[in-house]
Amino acid sequence: MTSHNEIVICGLDGVLALIEHRLHHLYNEEGIKHWDRFLAACGDDMPNLPLIERLNQARAEGVPIILLTGRSSEVKKQTIEWLRHWQIGYDALWMRPANDFKPAVEFKSNVIAQNYANATIRRAYESDSHIDVARWFADQNVPCTLIGHNQGNSATRDVFELKIIRHACNHTVLYPFYGDDDFNWPERIKHLSEGPCRLCQVEEQRKEQRRKSERARYHAKQRGLPPLEGSDKQTAWAETIRLNAFGAVDKVLKWMEQIAPRAEAEDPDHWHTMQQGIKRSIEYLENQIDAKWWIDHRQGMANNLDSGRALLASIAQEMGYY
Ligand SMILES: [Zn+2]
Repeated sequence: MTSHNEIVICGLDGVLALIEHRLHHLYNEEGIKHWDRFLAACGDDMPNLPLIERLNQARAEGVPIILLTGRSSEVKKQTIEWLRHWQIGYDALWMRPANDFKPAVEFKSNVIAQNYANATIRRAYESDSHIDVARWFADQNVPCTLIGHNQGNSATRDVFELKIIRHACNHTVLYPFYGDDDFNWPERIKHLSEGPCRLCQVEEQRKEQRRKSERARYHAKQRGLPPLEGSDKQTAWAETIRLNAFGAVDKVLKWMEQIAPRAEAEDPDHWHTMQQGIKRSIEYLENQIDAKWWIDHRQGMANNLDSGRALLASIAQEMGYY
């Protein structure tokens, strides 16, 4: 029996609409994200046909289908046209207002709180790239099916399948496979199922990041460096940059010890000027407590001798220490 209050929630980009063909507008050699072009090409998306079948089944049972998307309502007309073209039945369409650049999870959770507070969400379909939204559904105890990226070559639209993959972490993700490289499909399926799902991958990366910055904070304390100022996120990041920089500084100090006898014998004046310059540059670095300063200067702060020499020399020059 279907409860009167049940609904199904489904996303668009990377869920109902397969967006591989337009991802190059965001990820390209230029490194420029052309959001306008990415958005404008939505009319050419391939529909996720097997998922549409699932939605139709629910709809036939009387469960309304709510399309809830972070896609900008700038392309509402194209979107409605696309839904009509592929004969996708739905009961409501919520698109993010134009010029709303808040995280999608804020928009989506607000729409649900304001319009469907009394409904039971039977299931939500979300892209596995929308980590925060997927996590929010999990926190609300909403069963959420994740849709992964296409695993075929996307070259033709004739061959199409939605594969259910159980990952090593025991999470299940639906992957659209389209394109005619189907002889590769068993390999891709094997590869996917041997690894964790994207959600768990990102969780692992975040944990590793936290471990890294904790390590960096510990080393900074050992060294007697002052605590950094800024947001939690900034200081965590800056702490790892500072750790690298001081690792390089240590290598410079060691190198100076090695060259000291000869350098001093050759040109004592020059050597002492240089020593002073380096010493003052290191003090300058020790006194940088603004996390943003480290983030802004992170280029070239690698933990090796050359980077250390370049870093200290540039500070000494800029500050007139030589
Ligand atoms: Zn997982």
